[in-house]
Amino acid sequence: MNKVSGGAVRPEPGPAQSTPAGPHSWQWARERLDGLPDGRGLNIAYEAVDRHVAAGRGDKAALRCVAADLSVTTVTYAELARLSGRFASGLRALGVGRGDRVATLLGRCPELYVTVLGTLKNTSVLCPLFAAFGPEPVAERLRLGRVSVLVTTDELYERKVAAQRDRLPDLRHVLTVGEGRPPGTSPFEALLERAADGFVIPATSPEDMALLHFTSGTTGTPKGAVHVHEAVVAHYATGASALGLRPDDVYWCTADPGWVTGTSYGISAPLAHGVTTVVDAGEYDARRWYGILARNRVDVWYTAPTAIRMLMRASPRGSPPDLPRSYDLSALRFVASVGEPLNPEAVRWGEEVLGLPVHDNWWQTETGCVMIANVEGAPIRPGSMGRPLPGVEAAVLERGPDGRARVTSGRVRVLDDPDAEGELALRAGWPSMFRGYLDAEERYRRCFADGWYLSGDIARRDADGWFWFVGRADDVIKSAGHLIGPFEVESALMEHPAVVEAGVIGRPDPVAGEVVKAFVSLGPGFTADTALARDITAFARRRLGPAMAPREVVFDQHLPKTRSGKVMRRLLRARELGLPEGDVSALEEAR
Ligand code: ATP
Ligand code: MG
Repeated sequence: MNKVSGGAVRPEPGPAQSTPAGPHSWQWARERLDGLPDGRGLNIAYEAVDRHVAAGRGDKAALRCVAADLSVTTVTYAELARLSGRFASGLRALGVGRGDRVATLLGRCPELYVTVLGTLKNTSVLCPLFAAFGPEPVAERLRLGRVSVLVTTDELYERKVAAQRDRLPDLRHVLTVGEGRPPGTSPFEALLERAADGFVIPATSPEDMALLHFTSGTTGTPKGAVHVHEAVVAHYATGASALGLRPDDVYWCTADPGWVTGTSYGISAPLAHGVTTVVDAGEYDARRWYGILARNRVDVWYTAPTAIRMLMRASPRGSPPDLPRSYDLSALRFVASVGEPLNPEAVRWGEEVLGLPVHDNWWQTETGCVMIANVEGAPIRPGSMGRPLPGVEAAVLERGPDGRARVTSGRVRVLDDPDAEGELALRAGWPSMFRGYLDAEERYRRCFADGWYLSGDIARRDADGWFWFVGRADDVIKSAGHLIGPFEVESALMEHPAVVEAGVIGRPDPVAGEVVKAFVSLGPGFTADTALARDITAFARRRLGPAMAPREVVFDQHLPKTRSGKVMRRLLRARELGLPEGDVSALEEAR
């Protein structure tokens, strides 16, 4: 039984996080947020939209929505406040209230933002789903989340939900965007038209549940991470510290709002800062993306390593960068990425081709906000994810035999030696820390020890405090007594001119325990043959030395990836060993 639904589950007791009031600290952010009028609490949607209207900034563009055909619809802060208020009134009229779950299964369209903000205004809980999920993962998440309202399109409903409806007894209302009127649904537009203006956001405790986010499912069955309204403090602080947002910026976050990046940094952080956010309904295409950056004069761009690598494929370093050069990218001030390790090659590509390095940062669904980052103005060490942000205390903990932090009588050991590898941990208690895993309280508790949140990732910290990602605890390879992080091997492989992406696993070996095996995908113009495999292997041996270099390199143009673009090493391993593939709902091909 999970206690989350009624309020918050606090982590294991531990020292509270200190909140110094320096720039970009949590305290600094709290002072810059308004809180609900009359001291009625803290609500993400009020901070994101209504307070700007109250302060006379209602005419400013909040969203610049680019449709698939490139036509643009601008939504001002005043319009977004009004429409989201109406949606909240509409929910209330349906009898949907505090704590009830509202899911979105929508493309990146204005209605999505109206739904997200209206749901939060109504103190209901938003559960964003990725529109490209197939029927099974959609139904599974609706069921696990006990979702009572779904907002989707008529077409997505017909394709992905209608046949599953019987299995979803909690799903009371389906609101659809579009002309079609599938049985069992009602039109989104009509709800907005009927609803009254003047919605007053009810009192909202900072600890009220706001968001239910399913993790990417890279390492197993997706977990439902619970977040509360207080998260907006962290979104605001890190919007400034990790992304360098300034009020007049035009900002573009390419992550889909079906993932935590798309809500924390696609909705909450930029709107709380009052910037103009570009929303692209279209899919990745190099020309389209450069065009959007140029036409909108985007200042700050937040994207993913996989997207950067796709752009690299379209205009490699060393070749004349004709494609990006034919666009005016002069407005760009800051480029950041998250989700996977950013290989040094990608950082340098940014410098050469975009004129700006790409700033890697690290966080998780569970952390709710960026925790470790390469920030504006600080030197970048390519391949490092940066340093902890203000208010964040990060450490590397000694590991036990199971590969996770060793906990002895409730205590952990912080490794202070430079470059020591261990489990990356964060001092518990930051504002956007997840407050539970849905229906898995024991699993949640196991994430905390001795006042630390244990991330499940392995990292090292160098003598100057920069953190380097080694791998996930489950992915680290043990070969002939060495511990090998797949990322370092993958990074080295991607420096080879032919290799654009790589996934590295440990293959069981009677002598070494495990040996390194690499799956690589090639750029255009390269032929997958034995000579190239040999060349790549030799290249990796020169870079990494024989202990770390892959013993075997095979070609794979379709590395299994999650829908958010992460290489699923567990699937590579399962396929290699002929083991069951486990939960594949997050797999990119799983349509
Ligand atoms: P699941 O928890 O379901 O297996 P997931 O961990 O991929 O999926 P997310 O919360 O979306 O789900 O991703 C967080 C993880 O992504 C981190 O724990 C880390 O392993 C990886 N990650 C995120 N940013 C970075 C980065 N900058 N460098 C390296 N890895 C990163
Ligand atoms: Mg995870």
